[in-house]
Amino acid sequence: QKQTGALLEIRGLTVSFDGFVALNDVNFSVKPGEVRILMGPNGAGKSTLMDTVIGKVRADQGQIFFQGKDISKTPEYRITGLGICRKFQTPGVLENLSVKENLELAARKSKGFWGSLKTRLAKEETDRVSDVVKKVRLEEKADMQARHLAHGEKQWLEIGMVLAANPPLIMLDEPTAGMTVQETALTAQLIQELAKEHTIIVIDHDMTFIELLQADVSVLHMGKMLCEGNLDTVRNNEEVQSVYLGR
Ligand code: ADP
Ligand code: MG
Repeated sequence: QKQTGALLEIRGLTVSFDGFVALNDVNFSVKPGEVRILMGPNGAGKSTLMDTVIGKVRADQGQIFFQGKDISKTPEYRITGLGICRKFQTPGVLENLSVKENLELAARKSKGFWGSLKTRLAKEETDRVSDVVKKVRLEEKADMQARHLAHGEKQWLEIGMVLAANPPLIMLDEPTAGMTVQETALTAQLIQELAKEHTIIVIDHDMTFIELLQADVSVLHMGKMLCEGNLDTVRNNEEVQSVYLGR
């Protein structure tokens, strides 16, 4: 166990599904307070990388360190408790609950399943929920059932649910999928605000969104880390150009 100061450090990660190698000797490291964009064509292994961090998928080889601790063998239910939260590609809000109730549920969930059923919210948690509902711009819709939200608003509610659990590391899988240009711009703003208090890894393809975020980019391709650096470095990389533009 080496102390590198990284919040998340992945070394030599290899993951396969029935012999198909989805991640091949991947190194990836994120500093506390950083926003990092993870790019790559469909099937590159981006979602698998996040799944492996949260313990949903097991690595064949390699290590994952979170706050200096090796979590590669830690079960999925414990990893949430450690402070890693992943938002999936498709929204998972409970349609019949209000915006606020969804957030309260997420705040309680950080206590584990039994805690979520039995305990009332502590003052700190209710404060957090009212703070989050403002942050994700849904204050005026706090009592509205989630089913009535627009697609973009549902995505924000889901980001809010991640925030309600207050994890040090947030991973967002394609948060702007299906959003309008305007919603995408608002999401970039939201993520920049969140970055003041959290470390964020975000998978996205949308170039406008990525430009707005002004964060470092890591490019995965066919299970390998192709290139890392600021947006210009990545854009000028010949391998990245050949992957994206067929040059
Ligand atoms: P991305 O998110 O970059 O589009 P994924 O990580 O979802 O890519 O998938 C990477 C590759 O691994 C794809 O070829 C996909 O079909 C395969 N894959 C992902 N999850 C599984 C699974 N549970 N079983 C079998 N193959 C999988
Ligand atoms: Mg994916």
